[in-house]
Amino acid sequence: MEQPRVGVIIVAGGSGSRMGGALPKQFALVGGEPILARTINAFRKALPTSRIVVVLPAEYIEFWKNFSARFDVAKHSIVEGGKERFHSVRNGIEALSDAVDLIAVQDGVRPFASKELILRTVACAAEHGSAIPVVKAVDSYRMVDGDGSRIIDRTPLRIVQTPQIFAAPILRAAYDTEFRSEFTDDASVVEYSGEKIALCEGEYTNIKITTPDDLVVAEAIAKTENCGEGENI
Ligand code: C5P
Repeated sequence: MEQPRVGVIIVAGGSGSRMGGALPKQFALVGGEPILARTINAFRKALPTSRIVVVLPAEYIEFWKNFSARFDVAKHSIVEGGKERFHSVRNGIEALSDAVDLIAVQDGVRPFASKELILRTVACAAEHGSAIPVVKAVDSYRMVDGDGSRIIDRTPLRIVQTPQIFAAPILRAAYDTEFRSEFTDDASVVEYSGEKIALCEGEYTNIKITTPDDLVVAEAIAKTENCGEGENI
């Protein structure tokens, strides 16, 4: 089968209130490079012919154009973000032409998706129409209710990552709806539209950088990447 044409939407439209600090987290440096530049370049490496659309907060678009010019960042177009991640993805979908078979949505703050992970998720989406990478839950989880809490069985739990990849018509149709608070990722939107979601294997190093502590872990992962190009820790 021919290689599917993939459109990539990298959502970095959040202002990052959980990180604190002046600049949103997607612009922080890890291993001397902006997190967002690493995320964009991970897709250039895995899918060299893909079209990449980056979604940014309106007030940071000029900043990013100037800042990114100081680094080696793959070609990408830029669109404005929206109120919630949902609206940012929808703006990204509108900016992609119809000439793509699959659409991949990636959190801008997940810079460590490996080439193998991206290609595995593309292959799974090409087969099933919808694919998301997951890893097993290794912590214990408790459900809090009223004044107490109880343990929940972690055996069937999976932690969901990005890239989340879909047949373009499935994603476009799913996003033609009103925002709901349970839409925390693309799979939740696509599932609400009645489609099934296929799971593929994620990677524990594919972290989402959300808090300042995550930056410490990110520096460590970046170091292992720079020493052993392509190797997993
Ligand atoms: O806030 P959350 O952790 O869900 O953010 C996940 C990704 O979605 C981040 O890369 C963030 O920049 C992006 N996002 C967005 N537009 C928003 C909120 C979040 O593109 N309005």
